[in-house]
Amino acid sequence: MELDYQEHLSPMLKGDIKNYLIDIDGTITDDVPNEEPERMATCEPYPDALKTLNKWYDEGHIICFFTSRTEDLKQITIDWLDKHGFKYHSVLCGKPRGGNYHWIDNHLVKATRYKGKFTELVEKKVTIEVFED
Ligand SMILES: [Mg+2]
Repeated sequence: MELDYQEHLSPMLKGDIKNYLIDIDGTITDDVPNEEPERMATCEPYPDALKTLNKWYDEGHIICFFTSRTEDLKQITIDWLDKHGFKYHSVLCGKPRGGNYHWIDNHLVKATRYKGKFTELVEKKVTIEVFED
């Protein structure tokens, strides 16, 4: 991973490389709740998600699966990702459940809601909430 280091500051990714944080349930496969872990081994990946994510990985972007699955479900998740051929760098469990996410950070954050088609990203003008200047 190519990082730019400046003294006393957190490193930044170089160039146009993106840190993709990708949800799992309902985004790259069926929405499987933690209460039904047996389904996590048998659910099928969404083919367009697999193709697009592996392309982004091959282009040099960072792929991190960020999921509300709990730590005890991490290995079954990794086994499933590997079985289906997902290329990725990391899996983070323990994302808060319930949706309605609003991320505040000193780094640039963009968010894209998955609504049934996992394609290349396109630019659109939208309204967002920001802090006052
Ligand atoms: Mg989800």
